[in-house]
Amino acid sequence: MIQVLWRPVVAIILGFVLLGSLACTESFSRLTKAPQYSEDEFAAQRRRLVESLKEQGISKRPVLEALLKVPRHKFVPPTYRHLAYENRPLPIGHDQTISQPFIVGYMTEMAEIASGETVLEIGTGSGYQAAVLAELAKEVYSIEIIPPLAENARNLLREMGYQNVQVKTGNGYLGWPEHAPFDAIIVTAAPDEVPQALVDQLAVRGKMVVPVGSGFQQMVIVTRNESGVVERRTIPVAFVPMVDKPQP
Ligand code: SAH
Repeated sequence: MIQVLWRPVVAIILGFVLLGSLACTESFSRLTKAPQYSEDEFAAQRRRLVESLKEQGISKRPVLEALLKVPRHKFVPPTYRHLAYENRPLPIGHDQTISQPFIVGYMTEMAEIASGETVLEIGTGSGYQAAVLAELAKEVYSIEIIPPLAENARNLLREMGYQNVQVKTGNGYLGWPEHAPFDAIIVTAAPDEVPQALVDQLAVRGKMVVPVGSGFQQMVIVTRNESGVVERRTIPVAFVPMVDKPQP
């Protein structure tokens, strides 16, 4: 009697296990079978993305041209490559992200970079923002605190033929005094206040674009003039924290 009752119960349990594993393989294959795009398809997606950034207010022609030129998909890990031209940040490993394209466009535009200028970036990450800056400036110096990220970005930028970018492994709070003053400084991790060493390395009439705050931040544009600095707060943003602030 007991044996007879157990059979349907076992059958039902087996059925659930089978259905569950089928569901898992289904979602697993959807994850792993991400679409593979050709270079032409990526270029078309990039044009559409830049059009949408224009509609969102990115308006300076050289900035739009730089965004059109730099292949963001090359800076994104293979798992996320099919999402490279969506307007969103993406993981790049080591708990870090490549910034959202709108933010890259916005910061680049706010920095008012002219050809012939020297730019400092803090937080190299994938190297994408550095490549966009390299399209506009004469020299780009970029500092990354996580050694493997710095190494990857350095190799990738070199392979892509960017000869005007130098990537250093180090703490961005200290800036890069050997190459100062900088006409523009772009900080892509968030300190809780504007780092003084970076203000000191900003050229007169130079601009620093930096997300300031803990938790949520506001973008701050620091302009240096003969008599001091002027700070202007603009849009709310969300960046990873700028770590290892030196203790006084
Ligand atoms: N600009 C990058 C995205 C940066 S994400 C890109 O285009 O992909 C922020 C980066 O800042 C991370 O890689 C993080 O490791 C780095 N970072 C955080 N604190 C730092 C510090 N004190 N000095 C230098 N880099 C720092």
